[in-house]
Amino acid sequence: MLTSCSKILSGWPLTSPWSQAAAGAVTLGKLNMDEFAMGSANESSHYGAVKNPWDLTRVPGGSSGGSAAAVAARLLPAATGTDTGGSIRQPAALTNLTGIKPTYGRVSRWGMIAYASSLDQGGPLARTAEDCALMLQAMAGFDAKDSTSVDQPVDDYLATLNQPLSGLRIGLPKEYFGAGLDARIGEKVMAVVDALKKLGASVKEISLPTMQHAIPAYYVIAPAEASSNLSRFDGVRFGYRCANPVNLEDLYKRSRGEGFGAEVKRRIMVGTYALSAGYYDAYYLKAQKIRRLIKNDFVAAFSEVDVILGPTTPNLAWKLGEKNNDPVAAYLEDIYTITANLAGIPGLSMPAGFVDGLPVGVQLLAPYFQEGRLLNVAHQYQQVTDWHTQAPTGF
Ligand code: GLN
Repeated sequence: MLTSCSKILSGWPLTSPWSQAAAGAVTLGKLNMDEFAMGSANESSHYGAVKNPWDLTRVPGGSSGGSAAAVAARLLPAATGTDTGGSIRQPAALTNLTGIKPTYGRVSRWGMIAYASSLDQGGPLARTAEDCALMLQAMAGFDAKDSTSVDQPVDDYLATLNQPLSGLRIGLPKEYFGAGLDARIGEKVMAVVDALKKLGASVKEISLPTMQHAIPAYYVIAPAEASSNLSRFDGVRFGYRCANPVNLEDLYKRSRGEGFGAEVKRRIMVGTYALSAGYYDAYYLKAQKIRRLIKNDFVAAFSEVDVILGPTTPNLAWKLGEKNNDPVAAYLEDIYTITANLAGIPGLSMPAGFVDGLPVGVQLLAPYFQEGRLLNVAHQYQQVTDWHTQAPTGF
């Protein structure tokens, strides 16, 4: 069943019309996620929360928390996820995995249920960069069925994994290391920088000044697109329908009211408000302008450096339920990941050590279509470290 872990799609359709058994892969099953991929903790699923195998009292990250937990628990070697604002990279960071969000348009979105169409991008989560390269090689490429798919040849990701890092220019955005970052995570990030320097990389401080506007811009654009995408779930065409509707309006209201969870409803309301006549210019249009500035920041930064490095998340995996009543606290966890989606550039998270037994992830960002570069840097780092080989106790 394709349900996006929402009650509103329960029972529709009975089997997925799409097969993922491409490139000789065997699909083992489907996994839990946040409802319609909205969340950073996998707690908004209609089917219940996912636990982090590293500490069963903590969240695995989201929205691809089921994928992350299953790979981290060694149930399978790799899984797919979608990343609209960090949902591959953030759960990878919180569960000690490697995960890559490709350039927007690199992997077809055909067959995915849309959350925010201008941000959504599929990609793999696996233990190593090498396994991510194998997966991405099979997933990437032009698809005429997705109008935003980019018709550009796919690089040979495996062929460049072993390229030496001598001469690699790494940018450290000063905004990534300010207030809000757990200092213990900051130390792990700097240890990665030291290791990459030993491999021949040079480091430079850079600035991404518009980053401070990323969360407000994202939390206008993503809900706006979601409110439009989710309007099709009306109790008539798909999935859940309320019992005994008295008229059409009652059918719409109660089917949607009973079928969507609290976080999804919150975003539909925010998005509908931001798109409504009179507010469109003040919110949606302004957010789109900020989005362009964020992109410009990256383009400027990449004229000086080859990759940008920083933390994937500001905090370690938090306790289940801890941020449930504070959506803004959960939104702030996305600070380092959402800019890549707003700009459309690729991003990767890789294991970088542990704090109090909990995994820490480091994020690498690269210019458009340089997924190969990200996988190369992560693979080289994984040749000289063994964080990525650590498994949670009992799995
Ligand atoms: N946490 C972000 C959100 O809730 C990103 C989710 C995602 O990438 N699907 O929107």
